[in-house]
Amino acid sequence: MKRFSCACGQAVFFHNRGCTHCGARLGFDPRRLDLLTLTAPGDGTWTDGQASYRDCRNALEHANCNWLVHADDPDDYCVSCRLNRTIPNLSSAPSREYWDKIEVAKRRLIYSLLDLGLPVLGQTRGWPHGLAFDLVEDQRSNPTVSEEHVPIHHAGGIITINVAEADDVIRAMTRKQMNERYRTLLGHFRHESAHYYFDRLVYEPATLDSCRALFGDERADYEATLADYYAQGPAPDWTERHISAYASAHPAEDWAETWAHYLHLRDCLETAAAYRLVPLESGGFDDLLDTWLAFSVAFNELNRSMGLADAYPFVIPPPVADKLRFVHDLLAAGGIQ
Ligand SMILES: [Zn+2]
Ligand SMILES: [Zn+2]
Ligand SMILES: [Zn+2]
Repeated sequence: MKRFSCACGQAVFFHNRGCTHCGARLGFDPRRLDLLTLTAPGDGTWTDGQASYRDCRNALEHANCNWLVHADDPDDYCVSCRLNRTIPNLSSAPSREYWDKIEVAKRRLIYSLLDLGLPVLGQTRGWPHGLAFDLVEDQRSNPTVSEEHVPIHHAGGIITINVAEADDVIRAMTRKQMNERYRTLLGHFRHESAHYYFDRLVYEPATLDSCRALFGDERADYEATLADYYAQGPAPDWTERHISAYASAHPAEDWAETWAHYLHLRDCLETAAAYRLVPLESGGFDDLLDTWLAFSVAFNELNRSMGLADAYPFVIPPPVADKLRFVHDLLAAGGIQ
């Protein structure tokens, strides 16, 4: 993430709606990817002196969005909120709190996608191959709903996120049950976005061949392969070839875990560079990875100094580096359909 400051000089952050020092209103412009200090001309709009904006409808109705809508955009919702097809029932206090956490993670994903130059178009806004989100509760987070268990998944551009994942206790218990090293809302968003962008980015025959040589054939029987994985667990040597145990479940999951990991690395390195903890990214993928591997040691040591779990509980063996390089090169080539 970039580093932002208010017009008064105070450090401000991606999620902020106001400056704690001078009280100015802040808003994030998803076109300029910048957090702006705003003034109100008095006609119901906001301006930073360069452009005119409206509040996102979720800011007006629920005070849970700090992204701006350009005055020339006819949509009531910002580019992140307009992707929602289903939101939780807000009649219970926890659902409301969970929804807020989910939107924070979602905006972080959308920031990365926009920063990478990827198209972020709403399926509910007339883009048949666009993206949409169903943020769905099941009985773990809301006993009044009928669904017992909603799986997190992607199908045809619709990403379903289980609202229970915003409950820290439920998520920690699930992480323990699944024997995972890392489980976050942001990780879920990044992982599911991979399934969506696979079809958009990996379609040329030569690209598909290279992808399958690294990850395996994504046409392998999904249900049967996943059933085997859950019955028998990951292969004992998965750490030599995959970024996570789940990545070994199926080639499509390997792709998704690797893509999510690439987004983790990019965001962390952008943040570290913004605070001058690492050099600004200048070289290719190998330089990026070297910088990351050196920094991640310090990152973990800082967490251990606070008695916390490792911030980066991963190891990147050479085959995983090759997969991450494939994602890096694919995004750099920009051949989106
Ligand atoms: Zn300020
Ligand atoms: Zn919004
Ligand atoms: Zn997946």
